Amino acid sequence: MSLDVKNPVDSRQGIHILAKPNGPACNLACDYCFYTEKQSLFPKDENYRMPDNVLEAYIAKYISAQPSPEVEFAWQGGEPTLLGLDFFKKVIEMQKPFTGQKTIRNVLQSNGTLITDEWCRFLKRHSFLVGISLDGPQIVHDRYRRDRGGKATFNKVMKGLERLRKHGVEYNVMACVAGETACKPQDVYHFFKKEGVEFIQFFPVVERIPDEISEKRGFCLGMPPLLDREETNVEVTPWSVAPEPYGDFLIAVFDEWVKNDVGRVFVMNFEWALNAWMGNASPVCVFAKQCGRSIVLEHNGDVYACDHHVYPEYRLGNILDDNPLHMISKSIAAGFGTGKETALPRRCRECDVLELCRGGCPKHRFLKTYDDEPGLNYLCPGYRKFFNYSKKYLRVFRQLLENNLPASLVMDAIKGPLVIKT
Ligand code: SF4
Ligand code: SF4
Repeated sequence: MSLDVKNPVDSRQGIHILAKPNGPACNLACDYCFYTEKQSLFPKDENYRMPDNVLEAYIAKYISAQPSPEVEFAWQGGEPTLLGLDFFKKVIEMQKPFTGQKTIRNVLQSNGTLITDEWCRFLKRHSFLVGISLDGPQIVHDRYRRDRGGKATFNKVMKGLERLRKHGVEYNVMACVAGETACKPQDVYHFFKKEGVEFIQFFPVVERIPDEISEKRGFCLGMPPLLDREETNVEVTPWSVAPEPYGDFLIAVFDEWVKNDVGRVFVMNFEWALNAWMGNASPVCVFAKQCGRSIVLEHNGDVYACDHHVYPEYRLGNILDDNPLHMISKSIAAGFGTGKETALPRRCRECDVLELCRGGCPKHRFLKTYDDEPGLNYLCPGYRKFFNYSKKYLRVFRQLLENNLPASLVMDAIKGPLVIKT
């Protein structure tokens, strides 16, 4: 991709930076992690730790680039708690001079295994939102999420979660849906309900096996496809979720949720679908018309086009030498993000759920359509199935919301006397 700046990005629109303050370093070795392989981008003896000058530049430049009165700092890895509490105390100190200008919020994505009471007191005091990576009950979670010695991690994660709850730290759960997880939608959803989890996001695991080029560059997974080209490497890893079972998984959870839990449990995948059905812009890149405004900051200050495009050809610069808006402009001018919409195959352009799906993430668009056009999403059959299924309910949600009625009335509508016409 070439990086000539032709069209500066509209600075009135918000941007998002996902920071990796300790790069891909992690205490776990989950089978399906797509970020561990990024170690091959750095020297063997790399100290994965964001230095103070990078941290300072990041905080100042991100705040000044954000047009909205709120700025969300998202800390992810690898496992960011490996940096220790002192690193995050420094973050709070460095953010302090800006608190008069903006409302600052910190979000920490963690595997939960290193969360102590001391961490919890700090997270609570500074109003962090913590995203915990937890796939479901023990049998589901431990299937893929193991530590570097191959030991199960479920019990440690649950201890971390208990501590967060004990200290009243705000949290949500990010659950990966991998191959075998997809067969257990009820087990997964019932477990989260039993645990009192109110905010859940399901993330489909799809990775391709590496081709020769990826392997030569030291990666163990396939790289994202180029949208206008036919991909010969279409084989996915054994842990990837299959398309239809992913759709069936969402449908099974949706069925249970829409009958019993609307307004009590928030499954972000369903919230996004409703949001799109209401005609609003998608808050997540995957279902947005275009992407490219959510960039990644590595620990050494390097900035990449997105979390799933951390490869040398998608490096946009370094935070010490450039500002985020300019780097996003370069990326968008080079076609990253706009291609999500402009390179949609005809099958997507004519699809009856296009406004909900938008072709999904370009990383997963490595298949051909039945009429031989490249750029079809691997998850297409699952998306089609789920979005078509949920549409009849989304119609009811919209009617309720347009009449200023609570969305939870949908549960009464299903049980009757109101009948939802399909
Ligand atoms: S390529 Fe995928 S993950 Fe990256 S910004 Fe676009 S939709 Fe999001
Ligand atoms: S459901 Fe399939 S055809 Fe329809 S927009 Fe999504 S990926 Fe494209």
